[in-house]
Amino acid sequence: MKIMVSACLAGENCKYNGGNNRNRKVVRLMEENDVITVCPEQMGGLPTPRVPSEIKDGVVTARDGRIVDMEFRAGAAKCLEIARREQPDLIVLQSRSPSCGVKQRYDGTFTGTLADGAGVTAQLLMENGFRCVDVEDLHLPVNQA
Ligand code: SF4
Repeated sequence: MKIMVSACLAGENCKYNGGNNRNRKVVRLMEENDVITVCPEQMGGLPTPRVPSEIKDGVVTARDGRIVDMEFRAGAAKCLEIARREQPDLIVLQSRSPSCGVKQRYDGTFTGTLADGAGVTAQLLMENGFRCVDVEDLHLPVNQA
């Protein structure tokens, strides 16, 4: 199977704070499948580390007030381009990220409050028919978990 994953889940240090979200289930998937890693925020031109961002009234805004919507959407477009070329069977994304979250994201108040809705990359991929799942909703068979 061909799978696209958020690069931070694969252990790449691309998270806003310079760390990663290495995930055991994703590492197992990487051992057994053809895996493509993407980090839309880096691909949109943002540095690592970077100021964390949230989606406020539909616009991606950094905690210091800077509008970073253009960078986020540029990264999402690049991910879509890769997905169209590679045609992954499944896309596994980091939960709650303003780019990668599939079901939820933070609400733009920087208070840790969650809102329903996807991050900009997950939204674009789903709108274009790709099957996306939050890593938290990824359930492998017991002998693969
Ligand atoms: S943009 Fe996605 S892949 Fe990149 S660090 Fe954030 S959650 Fe991970």
